[in-house]
Amino acid sequence: MIQKLIRRILNKKSAASGKATILPLRKHGITRDRISPCALKVCEELRAQRFAAFVVGGAVRDLVLGAEPKDYDVATDATPEQVRDVFRRSRIIGRRFRIVHVMCGRETIEVTTFRGQAAPVNGEDDEAEEGDDHRKSDSGRLLRDNVFGSQFEDAARRDFTVNALYYDPTTQEVWDYLNGMADLKRGVMRIIGDAETRYREDPVRMLRAVRLAAKLGFKLDAATQKPIRALAGLLQDVPKSRLFDEMLKLFHSGHALASAHRIREEGLHHGVLPLLDVILEQPMGERFITLALKSTDERVNAGKPVSPAFLFATLVWHEVLTRWQHYQTQDMRPLQALDEAMDDVIQTQVENLAIPRRYTAGMREIWGMQPRFLQRAGQRPFRLVENLKFRAGFDFLLLRCESGELDAQVGQWWERFQHASDEERNRMLIKDEAPARKRRRRGGKKPSAVESAAE
Ligand code: ATP
Ligand code: MG
Repeated sequence: MIQKLIRRILNKKSAASGKATILPLRKHGITRDRISPCALKVCEELRAQRFAAFVVGGAVRDLVLGAEPKDYDVATDATPEQVRDVFRRSRIIGRRFRIVHVMCGRETIEVTTFRGQAAPVNGEDDEAEEGDDHRKSDSGRLLRDNVFGSQFEDAARRDFTVNALYYDPTTQEVWDYLNGMADLKRGVMRIIGDAETRYREDPVRMLRAVRLAAKLGFKLDAATQKPIRALAGLLQDVPKSRLFDEMLKLFHSGHALASAHRIREEGLHHGVLPLLDVILEQPMGERFITLALKSTDERVNAGKPVSPAFLFATLVWHEVLTRWQHYQTQDMRPLQALDEAMDDVIQTQVENLAIPRRYTAGMREIWGMQPRFLQRAGQRPFRLVENLKFRAGFDFLLLRCESGELDAQVGQWWERFQHASDEERNRMLIKDEAPARKRRRRGGKKPSAVESAAE
């Protein structure tokens, strides 16, 4: 008890004075051989040149928890130029805060020089002005952060205590300035410094808090959680490309479902995916999204690729569906109504939610294929299975069936059809379907894009 108290006081003191608690191997369990060969090489070669070099950030956190890190970051006291001089295959990137990418084989390690004072706002180089090293916007957002610092300062400008641990592969020690190890062991996400100030500097930290807590199964410390709801609106000011990257990380984390729920619990979705709210309120939509995120998580955890276009197509599908039904009640033919619905939804998404335009073509293809699954006569089904995007369209169809939106037998039919012989396929055709073509001939109207694509 008393020992614990003394340790706590000592730890507090070390944090304030900028001294690290140095933890030996038995306290963290990260042996050198668990580090990626490239990160190991980078650290060793920098050390050989008498620079400090540590693996830092999410990699150390994940290794302590026994998980495989997604990527490795190395922090050093060498300047970017000095780092570049040590490694033949390396280049300096970034304008606002220059970092060095060191390549070994297919792996790239991000090497950063210890950074001083406040934290970075990645991806906002355009807003930064030269010679202005700690500029803040009116809301307190950090626009520029370009100062080298000590290792302690580097730790203090990171986001969460569990992300501020430094591992030295040479000695197999972990340097802990901010009691990160204790939080890691207790499963607590704690922001470094004053939560509100840190969120104002960079609102994306709120999303990171929720994403990482969901990924790690951690609790948010009370002070870290408290300001989130009130400050959620600040996410509106974050450059959309950065928000999109963060959302992609979230959805590809293998914990998309848990993250989406936590985003909603914390009231953060208004700034990120406003439609998530609308969708989750609809009974059918909620089931669909839940299934989609669950299957995304399963794919990620099985090491399979996940296509962003498919993912975003699922996220806003019920919005498309609602608009589609709406246009059909206005006497529009089904395929043209779908076209209009897709236009509406994509426009809102691209404008407000930063789904980059490069994914919208893929989303349209998946949606546009859906009515064609209900045309099971003539040559159409034969052509559909040959479509390069058939697999994506079919997976999407299965989600619709599973969520109760469509009769399960439609999915089963296509499952059988795609694997059947030509003879069997001919026997399977369902004559009464494919109304679109007949109706168009009678009406004589110009075909919509979806109809043309369906030909
Ligand atoms: P992931 O598992 O998603 O890679 P991560 O914590 O490693 O999680 P990265 O984006 O790879 O996330 O960032 C590496 C490290 O950089 C973090 O662990 C943290 O120390 C620091 N960092 C990242 N983003 C911020 C931020 N917005 N503010 C302060 N520090 C940050
Ligand atoms: Mg990382």
